[in-house]
Amino acid sequence: MRYQGREVDIEGRVRLVMESALTARDRVGVQDFVLLENYHSEAAFIANLRRRFGENLIYTYIGSVLVSVNPYKELEIYSKQQMERYRGVSFYEISPHIYALSDNTYRAMRTERKDQCILISGESGAGKTEASKKILLYYAVTCPTNDQMAALGERLLQSNPILEAFGNAKTFRNDNSSRFGKYMDVQFDFRGAPVGGHILNYLLEKCRVVHQNQGERNFHIFYQLLDGGDDDMLTTLGLERNPQSYQYLVKGNCPRLSSVSDKNNWKVVMKALSVIGFTEEEVQKLLNIIASVLHLGNTQFGEGEEGETYITSGTQITNLTKLLGVDGSALGEALTHKKLTAKGEEMITPLSFEQAVSARDALAKAVYGRTFTWLVEKINQSLALKEEIYHSGKGCSVIGLLDIYGFEVLQHNSFEQFCINYCNEKLQQLFIELTLRSEQEEYETEGIAWETVQYFDNKIICDLIEEKHKGIISILDEECLRPGETCDVSFLEKLEDTLGGHPHFVTHKLANGKTRRVMSREEFRLLHYAGEVNYNVNGFLDKNNDLLNRNLKEVMCQSDNQILSHCFRREEAIDQKRPEMAATQFKNSLTKLMEILMSKEPSYVRCIKPNDAKQPGRFDEVLVRHQVKYLGLMENLRVRRAGFAYRRRFEAFLQRYKPLCPETWPNWHGRLSDGVSTLVSHLGYKAEEYKLGRSKIFIRFPKTLFNTEDALEAK
Ligand code: ADP
Ligand code: MG
Repeated sequence: MRYQGREVDIEGRVRLVMESALTARDRVGVQDFVLLENYHSEAAFIANLRRRFGENLIYTYIGSVLVSVNPYKELEIYSKQQMERYRGVSFYEISPHIYALSDNTYRAMRTERKDQCILISGESGAGKTEASKKILLYYAVTCPTNDQMAALGERLLQSNPILEAFGNAKTFRNDNSSRFGKYMDVQFDFRGAPVGGHILNYLLEKCRVVHQNQGERNFHIFYQLLDGGDDDMLTTLGLERNPQSYQYLVKGNCPRLSSVSDKNNWKVVMKALSVIGFTEEEVQKLLNIIASVLHLGNTQFGEGEEGETYITSGTQITNLTKLLGVDGSALGEALTHKKLTAKGEEMITPLSFEQAVSARDALAKAVYGRTFTWLVEKINQSLALKEEIYHSGKGCSVIGLLDIYGFEVLQHNSFEQFCINYCNEKLQQLFIELTLRSEQEEYETEGIAWETVQYFDNKIICDLIEEKHKGIISILDEECLRPGETCDVSFLEKLEDTLGGHPHFVTHKLANGKTRRVMSREEFRLLHYAGEVNYNVNGFLDKNNDLLNRNLKEVMCQSDNQILSHCFRREEAIDQKRPEMAATQFKNSLTKLMEILMSKEPSYVRCIKPNDAKQPGRFDEVLVRHQVKYLGLMENLRVRRAGFAYRRRFEAFLQRYKPLCPETWPNWHGRLSDGVSTLVSHLGYKAEEYKLGRSKIFIRFPKTLFNTEDALEAK
């Protein structure tokens, strides 16, 4: 159906559309994928994305889901004036924007008094973190506030540079890649002002502290300190300016970034630390820790004639002793020896060269990882809801923001990718549960007949990973705990024994030459909802164990650096009980996250990366097609199309569109539903294209009403 000749503009005025505007609309594609004539066609979907991307229209809806394509350049669409345009305006009646989604979520929280969450997904570099920052900024700028709350808004915003300095790094895919998952609650009081915040962090990629792939970097903070710290500070920390002097920084052979200045960011981070309320002393202790990690990396070992391991130079230990505030000789011994308790007796045994290297790296990872957790705790204290508001009885509502790693398929996939992709399976479960459930509920309350859409339920894959006793995580834990010779390969064999025959699990042996892609003998393959991934089992046991020798723990818990003595508790060094293993910890934290999200009303932002070169204006179709698939966007669209894309209460609908029909203009005096009926059939909708519920009109495919805003805006 072609457009009829009249359109409603942003203010709701009717106007005649010039031919040029029509051409413009052809040029810019549809602003909601449900309007695509050929909605089953992936090619049409991608063509629409591409067309819009070419016009700098990076946002498109699938119903209430916002799809965003990373423009890799600054667009003039995030100003304060733009924020004002989106305030209080209905989602479908203005061009798609992250502000529209932010505003809609906020109003839903206010009017329905229900907690909300915004789930942002997409692969690395797709724009998730930028999206979450824009949402936060929107609230900080547009929500009602007073001086005290403005300070909170500022702290909410300033938590970002700190977490990015310590938790982000340059990777192959993204110069500022978040190497941890983040969920942030923003709490609003009964007036709708932001009054508190809380952050949950997930699985920091600690192995980056000790190793980086070619072209990648360690966490930003190391380079920021070396580039930005003044001479005196570096001297006190025993550091040189050149990052290439540090073993933990040289592996990627990429000390500098072209896109950002470490020096400037250093200043930003130092300011942020002070806004959040870190004391000077705390900052000093924090920097001591960062410097210590670098000194640890430069602590090298030699092998004596009788196979004993020793530390080759004393300077690092001297620096470490000073900066960590620990006993130097105890540290030296703990780096080269292991303490065991056998039959109630303590024994000290020397470590081999390899064992010493991995004990040192384990210490660096533990120190850094725990310090990161401490940082999050400190930020949370600073953002914490004031007691008096909490107890005022007037109630707070919450908007949660989830910025977490997307489905990841690398050349070489390891334990980290396994966890990340497991997380995405869980989020897909949530999507199925929340989206379909809420759709069905609304149709039911409105008395609308609705036919369920078939979709793939990925519960079977979640079970394969997390089920007690026979899931992959259980088997991994068991293998880590089993006495005797266990190794990554014995873990793989266990998987084969237990899971052989599972429709979503394949190994070299089980595939029996029947698979399309070649698999190595060290791999297992999972058929994820989003695609197949081969995981190499090398390192799974070590990473899951995440062990730190007991004597190293003992040294650390005696540190006079308050951050470290907080992070390494004496009880832990004494306690013989094994702490939970990494995958199980992650599983438990995901279970909690799912509970948090389930209790809220979700909105979705699906981010897409247009090219691997991080360049503006380039749209790589093959790459985009992959993401459209992984993100389940076609499925998403089908579900949405089976339902009704547009729904509006009768009064609101009449009010907005009555100018389009002589019988409803200027006022309709009969029953509301009759007025809506008259109006909608005048607009050319056939009976099967819409339904009237008890209080709302549902339109399956609202193409004549909308899709005008972008045409007006595209220059
Ligand atoms: P992710 O968190 O998904 O890995 P980021 O949000 O860090 O990705 O985005 C990667 C980079 O892409 C950013 O550093 C920025 O340069 C660019 N970018 C992302 N979103 C936008 C946007 N809306 N406008 C301009 N540039 C963007
Ligand atoms: Mg990110």
